[in-house]
Amino acid sequence: MNCTACTTPLDHAAQLCDGCDRGLDTRLGELPAQYLLLAEHLRPGAARGDGPVALVREAPLPVREDVLDMRAAGGIVTVLEEWRAAMQDARGWGPPARSGTVERRVRDAARGLRMNIEWIAAEFAGAGDMAREIRALSGQVNALLDPAPPTLSVGTCAADLGGGDICDAPLRVPAGSTTVRCRRCRTEYPPSTWLTLATGTWAPAGAAA
Ligand SMILES: [Zn+2]
Ligand SMILES: [Zn+2]
Repeated sequence: MNCTACTTPLDHAAQLCDGCDRGLDTRLGELPAQYLLLAEHLRPGAARGDGPVALVREAPLPVREDVLDMRAAGGIVTVLEEWRAAMQDARGWGPPARSGTVERRVRDAARGLRMNIEWIAAEFAGAGDMAREIRALSGQVNALLDPAPPTLSVGTCAADLGGGDICDAPLRVPAGSTTVRCRRCRTEYPPSTWLTLATGTWAPAGAAA
């Protein structure tokens, strides 16, 4: 049988391989803090610290719709709560409570899923879809949180976070720099590697063939 998220062959009966299991757990652990961090990115340019806040208070505040959507119903909170409800339903449990502030609901839903991560990886029939959807969500959130103005995109981070879970965060060459460092996992890419990265043919050192 194969991992239902990445199709890696498994040597035992399970839904997720170790890499997808760990990646899912890590992302669920990151999302509540990222939800809070997004609040600082609601105003265009806010993350770069350009302009004193006092000056813009008098004008209508421009708001980044993409960040607003991610923090509103239908964004992070809904993805997490829907998966938690599906998981509880599959275990024969009642629906989880959805109460309190959105911030608290995000935290509760992520925690509820992480507390059941072993069962999810071993038995939850929706585990593959869940792992892929949370990975995509995490990628979108990371892109919104990336405060660097894009200068040159050189593809996505090829670092293996362990067990075949590829980081996949967007990589950019900052203005006036010849060093690319992944904002997510801190892996550094010298200029000699950029072409391989951009063409997607990168193979991390020591990666299993
Ligand atoms: Zn997998
Ligand atoms: Zn990375």
